[in-house]
Amino acid sequence: MSHLARIAFDEAAAILRCLGTERRLPATMLPLAQTRGMVLAGAIDAPIDLPSFANSAMDGYAYRAADVSGDAPRALRVVDTQFAGAALQRAVGEGECIAIMTGGVLPEGADTVAIRENVVRDGDTARIPGGLARGTNVRDAGSDCRVGARVGTAGTTVTPALIGLLAALGFTTIPVYQRPSVAVFSTGDELKPPGTPLAPGEIYDSNRALLQAALAEQGIATLAWPALPDDPVRMLTALRDAAEAYDVVITCGGVSAGDKDLLPGLVAEHGRIHFWRVRMRPGMPVLCGELGRALYLGLPGNPVSVLANFHALVTPLLDAMQGREDGVAPLHARLADPLSKRHDRLEFRRALLWCDADGQLRTRAHPATGSHQQSGAAESNALLRIEADATVLPAGASVPVYPYAPIRPG
Ligand code: AMP
Ligand code: MG
Repeated sequence: MSHLARIAFDEAAAILRCLGTERRLPATMLPLAQTRGMVLAGAIDAPIDLPSFANSAMDGYAYRAADVSGDAPRALRVVDTQFAGAALQRAVGEGECIAIMTGGVLPEGADTVAIRENVVRDGDTARIPGGLARGTNVRDAGSDCRVGARVGTAGTTVTPALIGLLAALGFTTIPVYQRPSVAVFSTGDELKPPGTPLAPGEIYDSNRALLQAALAEQGIATLAWPALPDDPVRMLTALRDAAEAYDVVITCGGVSAGDKDLLPGLVAEHGRIHFWRVRMRPGMPVLCGELGRALYLGLPGNPVSVLANFHALVTPLLDAMQGREDGVAPLHARLADPLSKRHDRLEFRRALLWCDADGQLRTRAHPATGSHQQSGAAESNALLRIEADATVLPAGASVPVYPYAPIRPG
């Protein structure tokens, strides 16, 4: 087999970014409501001013500031009421005001709004307080964004707030990159689906559920295939079929050095290997290659390895395939306790990440370091990156962290 072996983590990540960029998915126009979490495929400029007309920021009375120039209040004649919606065909003249509701078009002639709570209304007159600067409580046309202003750039993730802005600007569809389709297989003769009885030596297939959930978080739906047995013919048939229909095929299990770890040989023979084994822990046996038209990633079977490989390698690949440029760069947090490590691989330790009362991100490695210890991963919310050459890190050291669940308050 001629391929890269035991490469550094950063090299593997760079190869995956490169492969993902080469296989960037096409852009498509989609209804706004379907685009949350997708990546903008083009710049978006405001087609109109927002707001498109001057309107009131409050419920109150619209008037001419020149009519109440001093600090003293002045009684103005209330000549009409402007609700949000169609504009009155009437202007505010000298000595007049118009009752107005939030969002109502600012009447012709008016330039200022006094809020209802500060106005004393008596029949047809309203006592407007003095001292309000011209323009108070008025939202000018274009004061949110001007026609032509850039409101979205290619490569950024579509958030609910952006969707709201684009809807306010009248968009119904926007250009986004398609999401990659991903097939997920777990492999191993010992695996049983949860909910069925276990014979001695069997375990529940947890990786498939983990991977499906992690992909679902990124908006990628997957089918629940049965786990593949450690049988080369059945594995090859299933993987080849999937490679015809999916952009990315992910397996877990069967890529280490055991007698039933058949996937590296199969991929070498029937596809192509880009690299096998990365100097990281956990997740060292990870395999990357191609099968048919699909990119192939073989993750090891240990569940914590799957988690680390997924967040550290698979996510950057999927991001690159979607042109995402605002993907999660690591945050930096201060170690709450000292850390030590004895091996010379880059390590992703499961860790608790929180923000203390001073606004400082802090992190503490979880004591469960075994790659089978899923409880430690579930109790944690971040991967803490320890560089290959680090042996001892003192409390207070700044370390890169990759959150994979919400950051909790301290
Ligand atoms: P492997 O990489 O196939 O040698 O598997 C390494 C370890 O992970 C073994 O203890 C397997 O039983 C376990 N394992 C493999 N696949 C899964 C899975 N889908 N769910 C839970 N554990 C698994
Ligand atoms: Mg196995």
